[in-house]
Amino acid sequence: SSLPPPRTRIFKIIVIGDSGVGKTCLTYRFCAGKFPDKTEATIGVDFREKVIEIDGEKIKVQLWDTAGQERFRKSMVQHYYRNVHAVVFVYDVTSAASFRSLPAWIEECRQHALGQEVPRILVGNKCDLRHAAQVSTDVAQQFADAHSMPLFETSAKNPHGDEDGNHSNSDHVEAIF
Ligand code: GDP
Ligand code: MG
Repeated sequence: SSLPPPRTRIFKIIVIGDSGVGKTCLTYRFCAGKFPDKTEATIGVDFREKVIEIDGEKIKVQLWDTAGQERFRKSMVQHYYRNVHAVVFVYDVTSAASFRSLPAWIEECRQHALGQEVPRILVGNKCDLRHAAQVSTDVAQQFADAHSMPLFETSAKNPHGDEDGNHSNSDHVEAIF
Protein backbone atom coordinates (compact mmCIF):
# COMPACT_ATOMS: atom_id res chain seq x y z
CA SER A 1 0.00 0.00 0.00
CA SER A 2 1.19 3.51 -0.68
CA LEU A 3 1.84 6.12 1.94
CA PRO A 4 -0.85 8.73 2.51
CA PRO A 5 -0.01 12.08 0.97
CA PRO A 6 1.81 14.40 3.40
CA ARG A 7 -0.41 16.83 5.24
CA THR A 8 -0.47 20.23 3.70
CA ARG A 9 0.85 22.75 6.16
CA ILE A 10 -1.31 25.77 6.79
CA PHE A 11 0.16 29.23 7.08
CA LYS A 12 -2.29 31.74 8.52
CA ILE A 13 -1.74 35.42 7.75
CA ILE A 14 -4.00 38.17 9.04
CA VAL A 15 -4.34 41.36 7.02
CA ILE A 16 -5.07 44.39 9.17
CA GLY A 17 -5.74 48.07 8.61
CA ASP A 18 -8.44 50.69 8.27
CA SER A 19 -11.48 50.13 6.13
CA GLY A 20 -10.87 51.12 2.51
CA VAL A 21 -7.08 50.70 2.42
CA GLY A 22 -7.42 47.77 0.02
CA LYS A 23 -7.09 44.67 2.20
CA THR A 24 -9.72 42.76 0.24
CA CYS A 25 -8.20 43.76 -3.09
CA LEU A 26 -4.71 42.76 -1.95
CA THR A 27 -5.80 39.33 -0.76
CA TYR A 28 -7.82 38.87 -3.96
CA ARG A 29 -4.81 39.86 -6.06
CA PHE A 30 -2.64 37.36 -4.23
CA CYS A 31 -5.11 34.47 -4.39
CA ALA A 32 -6.76 35.08 -7.77
CA GLY A 33 -3.91 36.87 -9.54
CA LYS A 34 -5.97 39.91 -10.52
CA PHE A 35 -7.77 42.98 -9.25
CA PRO A 36 -11.40 42.20 -8.41
CA ASP A 37 -14.02 43.44 -10.89
CA LYS A 38 -16.15 44.70 -8.09
CA THR A 39 -15.67 44.82 -4.37
CA GLU A 40 -18.21 44.85 -1.66
CA ALA A 41 -17.39 46.14 1.77
CA THR A 42 -16.21 43.24 3.86
CA ILE A 43 -18.74 41.93 6.32
CA GLY A 44 -17.22 39.96 9.12
CA VAL A 45 -14.21 38.12 7.79
CA ASP A 46 -13.02 37.72 4.23
CA PHE A 47 -11.15 34.50 3.97
CA ARG A 48 -9.10 33.41 0.97
CA GLU A 49 -6.49 30.75 0.46
CA LYS A 50 -3.95 29.65 -2.05
CA VAL A 51 -1.64 26.68 -2.17
CA ILE A 52 1.96 27.53 -2.94
CA GLU A 53 4.96 25.28 -3.22
CA ILE A 54 8.16 25.96 -1.35
CA ASP A 55 11.10 23.58 -1.79
CA GLY A 56 8.76 20.91 -3.14
CA GLU A 57 6.40 21.17 -0.21
CA LYS A 58 2.85 22.37 -0.65
CA ILE A 59 1.82 25.07 1.79
CA LYS A 60 -1.68 26.40 2.14
CA VAL A 61 -1.58 30.15 2.70
CA GLN A 62 -4.70 31.43 4.38
CA LEU A 63 -5.35 35.15 4.30
CA TRP A 64 -7.80 36.56 6.83
CA ASP A 65 -9.10 40.03 6.27
CA THR A 66 -11.56 41.80 8.51
CA ALA A 67 -13.88 44.72 8.29
CA GLY A 68 -13.19 45.84 11.81
CA GLN A 69 -16.80 46.53 12.73
CA GLU A 70 -17.44 46.59 16.43
CA ARG A 71 -20.11 43.93 16.41
CA PHE A 72 -18.00 41.54 14.43
CA ARG A 73 -14.99 42.17 16.56
CA LYS A 74 -16.55 41.30 19.88
CA SER A 75 -17.68 37.85 18.75
CA MET A 76 -14.89 36.93 16.36
CA VAL A 77 -11.80 38.59 17.67
CA GLN A 78 -10.44 35.65 19.68
CA HIS A 79 -10.89 33.27 16.76
CA TYR A 80 -9.32 35.70 14.37
CA TYR A 81 -6.14 36.15 16.39
CA ARG A 82 -5.62 32.46 17.09
CA ASN A 83 -2.78 30.46 15.50
CA VAL A 84 -1.47 33.35 13.44
CA HIS A 85 1.83 32.84 11.62
CA ALA A 86 2.26 36.36 10.28
CA VAL A 87 0.63 39.79 10.34
CA VAL A 88 0.34 42.21 7.43
CA PHE A 89 -0.45 45.82 8.40
CA VAL A 90 -1.87 47.80 5.49
CA TYR A 91 -2.26 51.56 5.00
CA ASP A 92 -3.28 53.52 1.93
CA VAL A 93 -0.51 55.81 0.66
CA THR A 94 -3.17 58.38 -0.30
CA SER A 95 -4.65 58.45 3.20
CA ALA A 96 -2.69 60.00 6.05
CA ALA A 97 -5.49 58.92 8.40
CA SER A 98 -4.98 55.25 7.52
CA PHE A 99 -1.28 55.67 8.34
CA ARG A 100 -2.05 57.36 11.66
CA SER A 101 -4.24 54.39 12.62
CA LEU A 102 -1.33 51.95 12.45
CA PRO A 103 -0.15 52.31 16.07
CA ALA A 104 -3.62 51.33 17.30
CA TRP A 105 -3.68 48.25 15.04
CA ILE A 106 -0.17 47.29 16.15
CA GLU A 107 -1.20 47.70 19.77
CA GLU A 108 -4.29 45.55 19.31
CA CYS A 109 -2.13 42.79 17.85
CA ARG A 110 0.29 43.10 20.74
CA GLN A 111 -2.59 42.64 23.16
CA HIS A 112 -3.34 39.36 21.39
CA ALA A 113 0.25 38.20 21.78
CA LEU A 114 1.23 39.18 18.25
CA GLY A 115 4.26 41.34 18.92
CA GLN A 116 7.75 41.36 17.48
CA GLU A 117 8.22 37.62 17.87
CA VAL A 118 5.68 37.07 15.07
CA PRO A 119 6.71 38.01 11.53
CA ARG A 120 5.04 41.34 10.74
CA ILE A 121 5.25 43.45 7.62
CA LEU A 122 4.00 46.89 6.68
CA VAL A 123 2.34 47.43 3.31
CA GLY A 124 1.55 50.81 1.73
CA ASN A 125 -1.13 50.16 -0.90
CA LYS A 126 -2.46 52.21 -3.87
CA CYS A 127 0.97 53.19 -5.17
CA ASP A 128 -0.64 53.53 -8.61
CA LEU A 129 -1.99 56.81 -7.14
CA ARG A 130 1.46 58.00 -6.11
CA HIS A 131 0.76 61.52 -7.44
CA ALA A 132 -1.92 61.77 -4.73
CA ALA A 133 0.24 60.26 -2.00
CA GLN A 134 -0.07 61.69 1.49
CA VAL A 135 2.41 59.32 3.10
CA SER A 136 5.98 59.54 1.84
CA THR A 137 8.23 56.52 1.56
CA ASP A 138 10.66 58.16 4.00
CA VAL A 139 8.08 58.64 6.72
CA ALA A 140 6.73 55.13 6.22
CA GLN A 141 10.23 53.67 6.30
CA GLN A 142 11.03 55.44 9.58
CA PHE A 143 7.84 54.07 11.08
CA ALA A 144 8.61 50.56 9.81
CA ASP A 145 12.14 50.73 11.24
CA ALA A 146 10.85 51.93 14.60
CA HIS A 147 8.58 48.88 14.75
CA SER A 148 11.14 46.44 13.33
CA MET A 149 9.08 45.66 10.27
CA PRO A 150 10.01 45.58 6.59
CA LEU A 151 8.10 48.05 4.41
CA PHE A 152 6.61 47.23 1.01
CA GLU A 153 4.88 49.73 -1.22
CA THR A 154 2.53 48.21 -3.73
CA SER A 155 -0.69 48.44 -5.68
CA ALA A 156 -3.37 45.78 -5.73
CA LYS A 157 -4.80 47.51 -8.79
CA ASN A 158 -1.84 48.08 -11.06
CA PRO A 159 1.35 46.39 -9.92
CA HIS A 160 3.18 47.27 -13.13
CA GLY A 161 3.01 51.03 -13.14
CA ASP A 162 1.11 54.14 -12.26
CA GLU A 163 -1.94 55.60 -14.01
CA ASP A 164 0.19 57.47 -16.53
CA GLY A 165 1.87 54.26 -17.57
CA ASN A 166 5.15 55.16 -15.92
CA HIS A 167 7.25 52.30 -14.77
CA SER A 168 6.67 51.77 -11.11
CA ASN A 169 9.24 50.76 -8.55
CA SER A 170 6.58 49.35 -6.30
CA ASP A 171 6.72 45.83 -4.96
CA HIS A 172 4.57 43.12 -6.49
CA VAL A 173 1.83 41.70 -4.33
CA GLU A 174 2.88 38.13 -5.11
CA ALA A 175 6.38 38.87 -3.88
CA ILE A 176 5.19 40.34 -0.59
CA PHE A 177 3.08 37.55 0.82
P1 GDP B 1 -10.68 47.10 2.46
O1 GDP B 1 -11.82 47.79 3.14
O2 GDP B 1 -9.38 47.40 3.15
O3 GDP B 1 -10.89 45.64 2.25
O4 GDP B 1 -10.54 47.80 1.00
P2 GDP B 1 -11.03 47.23 -0.41
O5 GDP B 1 -10.12 46.15 -0.88
O6 GDP B 1 -12.47 46.92 -0.35
O7 GDP B 1 -10.75 48.51 -1.33
C1 GDP B 1 -11.34 49.76 -1.01
C2 GDP B 1 -11.38 50.62 -2.27
O8 GDP B 1 -10.06 50.92 -2.70
C3 GDP B 1 -12.08 49.95 -3.47
O9 GDP B 1 -12.82 50.93 -4.16
C4 GDP B 1 -10.93 49.45 -4.31
O10 GDP B 1 -11.26 49.39 -5.67
C5 GDP B 1 -9.86 50.50 -4.03
N1 GDP B 1 -8.50 49.96 -4.15
C6 GDP B 1 -7.99 48.89 -3.51
N2 GDP B 1 -6.70 48.69 -3.83
C7 GDP B 1 -6.36 49.68 -4.68
C8 GDP B 1 -5.16 50.03 -5.37
O11 GDP B 1 -4.10 49.41 -5.27
N3 GDP B 1 -5.21 51.15 -6.16
C9 GDP B 1 -6.36 51.89 -6.30
N4 GDP B 1 -6.29 52.95 -7.11
N5 GDP B 1 -7.50 51.59 -5.69
C10 GDP B 1 -7.51 50.49 -4.89
MG1 MG C 1 -12.38 44.41 2.87
